[in-house]
Formats: sequence, structure tokens, C-alpha cells
Amino acid sequence: MTSEPGGGDAAAAATAAPAASAAQVARRGVVVIGGGIVGAASALELLRDGHRVTILEPGPPGGEQSASYGNGCWLSPMSVIPPAMPGTWRKVPGYLADPLGPLAIRWGYLPRVLPWLARYLLAGWTEARVQRTAHALRALLVDAPALHRGLAEEAGVPQLIERRGLMYIYRSRAEFEAEAMAWRVRANTGIRWLELDENELRQREPALDRRYRFAALVEEGGHCRDPGAYVAALIAHARERGADLRAARAAGFRIEDGRLRAVLTEEGDAIACDAAVIAAGAHSKKLAAAAGDRVPLETERGYHAQIADAETGPRTPLMPSDGKMSITWTDQGLRVSGQVEIAGLAAAPNWRRAEILRDHLLRSFPELPRDLPAERVRFWMGHRPSLPDGLPCLGPASATADIVHAYGHGHVGLVAGARTGRIVAQLLGGKPPEVPLAPYDPRRFR
Ligand SMILES: Cc1cc2nc3c(=O)[nH]c(=O)nc-3n(C[C@H](O)[C@H](O)[C@H](O)COP(=O)(O)OP(=O)(O)OC[C@H]3O[C@@H](n4cnc5c(N)ncnc54)[C@H](O)[C@@H]3O)c2cc1C
Repeated sequence: MTSEPGGGDAAAAATAAPAASAAQVARRGVVVIGGGIVGAASALELLRDGHRVTILEPGPPGGEQSASYGNGCWLSPMSVIPPAMPGTWRKVPGYLADPLGPLAIRWGYLPRVLPWLARYLLAGWTEARVQRTAHALRALLVDAPALHRGLAEEAGVPQLIERRGLMYIYRSRAEFEAEAMAWRVRANTGIRWLELDENELRQREPALDRRYRFAALVEEGGHCRDPGAYVAALIAHARERGADLRAARAAGFRIEDGRLRAVLTEEGDAIACDAAVIAAGAHSKKLAAAAGDRVPLETERGYHAQIADAETGPRTPLMPSDGKMSITWTDQGLRVSGQVEIAGLAAAPNWRRAEILRDHLLRSFPELPRDLPAERVRFWMGHRPSLPDGLPCLGPASATADIVHAYGHGHVGLVAGARTGRIVAQLLGGKPPEVPLAPYDPRRFR
């Protein structure tokens, strides 16, 4: 059977597929599709287990085409709250009316995205559902800064991973208390934080605008000083360890008798292999279908603005409550990232959204100059790969267990990437995964 994008349901084939023998599992030829953080971490973990690895990535590893390049840099084990919460539905009409708010849906794209949006809102309908999602995310994220530090050390770039905590800042304690449900859910998953009053916040963040008067500091959080360089270093290290990097785009699979024989490329090549990992981020939907699974994967587009040689900024990465964005120092400058725009993969960026981020940053640090020359500010747009329930797809494909789904990490793909790589290697190595995979089942949307 040759399965191209849009290929049929092959759950039966997966059930019928003979399990790989121990010798076959021991050293397999694996094609990792996608060179973002998930593909890079998976490649390294697979190499560690002795597999032969080919990475398929059409762009430069860690390049601007990937979400892993321009994200907010947060390695936040406490990012367990799904994007939609109870009552979010009430805000949707406002979001639609205000194209410059923190969430925007392009009118033209609305009919196409309605089913996804309905599931997205339902997933956060009750606190109990939010709590379930939080537990499932926490299992992927716990200890993530240490896991990333381990990978960075191995790749010779330990300086890119820092652990200084992460801070949520509020205009008042009342504003923090208005988010009590989210913090209660976090506490129930074992997350702890320090509450800082105005005076303590001022001492820690002297350059921050005075309108912020309260903060919650999560000390277990870390950040990456340059996610693009980090991914590039992981892939360079994978190549040193024998991985082959091919500049090509996967288009489908050749599957025979329930076993994977080759990954097919858009260029018409067939790369012979025993196993494959779908880690193409927001571009994984067609490949998932080719592997027998229809998944409601969407892009939640996001933006960043970055100021080179910024005069001032935070000591700890910050998330202001009135902007839902992150402000973090990177090696290239002070980066502010955020915004959710539902407009599909093809629409042109709306740079006004990046300007909103820049302006919020300037308001948060009054000593930053208002008249920044254009060459000091860089804008970027990227695609968060998002399933409507806020959880990734991680597990064997229906067409054959030789293909593993590993995408859809939405807002937490950078931080979740390290453990995802380990789980991918465990699955393809025939070992029990280190966390229960039921919440991430690619078939859960049927
Ligand atoms: C503005 C913004 C801020 C964010 N902030 C954070 C944050 O602070 N912390 C956090 O943890 N997460 C954050 N995220 C989310 C995070 O960046 C993503 O979840 C994560 O980078 C996804 O990684 P990935 O490897 O799955 O996908 P990507 O990084 O997108 O990589 C996928 C790769 O697959 C390649 N590809 C596509 N199609 C094919 C094909 N057919 N064949 C081969 N290769 C293909 C692409 O070129 C791409 O390089 C943010 C995202 C955005 C947009």
C-alpha cells in the first residue's frame, strides 16, 4: 500500500502489523520529518539509542521558517493552562470585533476554523477539564529546564539555557486574584511560586513601569537565550553523531503489509527507512492523514518584536497580565512575543500585530527610547502547531506503529520538546514511554 496525504483510515493495518522483533528495533533507519525543536530532540535521542537517523528539513535548521526560531524562549514547566478557560467563549465576539486584541480571527478564515474553535472552547469549558489538561501537560513539562540543559551541554551550547525563574506581573494583587482558578489548577499539579509585593517587585525589576505592583515568581522556570541557535546546535551535534540532514519536504509514506518502507518527498524521492517521526509542526496535518490519522491541527499564528542593543529591560523574563506576552532577553536583543491570530498557514503576516507587542514593551520599560530606528527592531511571525484541546499528538500512527506522531504542542513546544524527543525514542525503541500517552493519542478526536 502506498499512502499519500489524504490516504484512508488504516487503523486495521496498525492492529494487524506484526510487532518489530527485538533485533529490528535495536537499530533502525529512522527519518525524522522536520528540523524544529521536536525533530532535533528526537534525532538526538534516537542516535543515543543507536538508530540511523535522517533529518528531512526544507529550510535551515533552527531557521525563521520554524516556530522554534522565534518563540518567547520560555522553558516554563508551569505553562499547563490550556488557552481556553471557562467563560472564554463570552470573549470571542469581542475578539472578532477587535482585530488588534491579543486574539484575532480573520473573518475570511472563520467558517473553516469554526469546528476547531468549538472544540477549543469546549476543552476549557469547566475547571475539571482544565485540570485534566494541566495534569497531562505537566507530565510532559516537569523538569524541562534540566532536560534542555542536558541537551545543550551535550551539543556544546550550555550557555543558551538559563534558569533564573519566570515572572508573571500584575497591576494589582486583585488582578492576580482574578486569575485564581488558573493558579489553583497550577498548584494542584505541584507548581509553587513566590508572591512579590510592590516593594519586592521594584527591587527585583527597577526598570519596570510603575503600573505593575504585584508578581508571581516561578523559580523552577528557565529560558533559552536563542532558540534558533539552540535548535541549530542540536542538529549540528546530531550530524556530528552521524545523522544525515536532507533539504527536502516529506509528502507521504510507502507502507507495505503494515510496515513502513520509505518516506516520499515532494521532490519525488523515496527515502528507504524502517521508521519515521512526523515532527513538521503546524505543517503535519497532511502527513498525519497519510499515516492514517485525521487530526484537527491548526496554526495559532504568533509574532515577536525584538529590539537590538536595548538600553534596558527585565532581569527575569516577564509576562505582563495586561498583554499576555513574554518579555525576554535573547542574544540578539530584547524580545517580546505573543498574540494569537487564527488565519491559516497561507495568509500574509499582519505586522500591525508585532507593532502592538513592540508598543507594549515600550510602555512596560519607560526608559526605552520611543524613537527607535527601524533597523534596531525586527519583526517575525510563526506558526504554533495547535490541537483544539491544548495537548499534542504523540504516539504511534494508525497505518503502522513504525510512524510516530510528534507535533501539536501549541504554546509549549519549546519547553515540551526535550521530553517529547525522549518519548519518540522510547516508542521506536520498543520501550515503555516514561509518561502515559493516552491524553496525547492521535485518535482522540474521532
Ligand atoms: C510567538 C510564539 C511564542 C512562543 N513562545 C513559546 C515559549 O515561550 N515557550 C514554548 O515552549 N513554546 C513557545 N511557542 C511554541 C513553540 O515555538 C512551538 O510549539 C514549537 O516551536 C513547535 O516545534 P516543532 O518542532 O513542533 O515545530 P517547528 O519549530 O515549526 O518545526 C517544524 C519544522 O518542520 C519543517 N517542515 C514543515 N513541513 C515539512 C515537510 N513536509 N517535510 C519536512 N519538514 C517540514 C519546517 O520547515 C519546520 O522547520 C511559541 C510560539 C510562537 C509562535
